[in-house]
Amino acid sequence: MIVAMQENATEEQIDAVIDVMLESGVNVHRTTGAMQTILAAVGPTAGLDLSKFEVLPGVLHVHRISSPYKLAGRAFRPDGTVVAFPNGAAIGGGKVAMIGGPCSIENREQIFAIALAVKAAGGRFLRGGAFKPRSSPYSFQGLGIPGLELMREAADANGLATVSEVMEIAQIEPMLPYVDCFQVGARNMQNFNLLRELGQVRKPVLLKRGIAATIEELLLSSEYILSGGNYDVILCERGIRTYETATRNTMDISAIPVLKKLSHLPVVADPSHGTGRRDMVAPMAKAAVAAGADALLIEIHPNADKAVSDAAQTMYLEDFARLTGELRTIAQAVGRTL
Ligand code: PEP
Ligand code: MN
Repeated sequence: MIVAMQENATEEQIDAVIDVMLESGVNVHRTTGAMQTILAAVGPTAGLDLSKFEVLPGVLHVHRISSPYKLAGRAFRPDGTVVAFPNGAAIGGGKVAMIGGPCSIENREQIFAIALAVKAAGGRFLRGGAFKPRSSPYSFQGLGIPGLELMREAADANGLATVSEVMEIAQIEPMLPYVDCFQVGARNMQNFNLLRELGQVRKPVLLKRGIAATIEELLLSSEYILSGGNYDVILCERGIRTYETATRNTMDISAIPVLKKLSHLPVVADPSHGTGRRDMVAPMAKAAVAAGADALLIEIHPNADKAVSDAAQTMYLEDFARLTGELRTIAQAVGRTL
């Protein structure tokens, strides 16, 4: 951390800032320039609250120079993390992964038809919600464990790995036999107790960015899981809330290269929630692959218009197959495969 003092800061003000820095447990290196004094903190700065220093008299700016997330930071694993799954598939590395499935698992016929379509398109991951975080308590809340049983069967019949959302700590244990990857939804990105508990699990976690979360907050949330010893974390950009109303959320494509630069963790793009509109999913999926996404998470359904949740953003199976083919060309153009 660097504290830049104002040009007219007095010696008393500088000394007072140094005292607060020392009390916070860091060493201070002082540089007195012709115009300005700079105080550099060396030591355990990760937990420091910068605003504590910003408000001290005589302080101009406070900057962080080392990242507050040690395990999620790129420096921890410069070559990048590849998360491996029991079906032999992986997320991260040179290959772009396709994760397809319904917003909600609805019935046997639906999930089996979708699993077959994912496999046929070359995808290796089946997603499906069984515990749904719905904005209204009167909306369909998901089939729960019986839904996960159906998804597991459909996935196994097609060599797919499963991804499903966990909403609370009590669901982790009962979900374990059915899911290969726990999804933490946007609404739970800062449910720190849930994140800590997932740090104890030895299965991958797909962590979605909160609807109003900064990239730094997403990385700090991933740090909760990593610091428990679970290094298989996948980050997901799924759109954020802005003043724009033309789409359900604003798909932050720039978050993809930013996350790839700051972190070694694989990055998944979710253009379904990112746009909320079926006709916008394909263009944003293409942009995400071009921008370096390691995987795409896309909501699909044989009868998309009739999907019990998120129908407007859900793609038909034929469109998913066509999109996957188009993405293959884009992946090759940017030095990847799919
Ligand atoms: C979902 O994947 O269906 C979902 C609810 O996602 P999010 O948490 O991004 O809204
Ligand atoms: Mn959904």
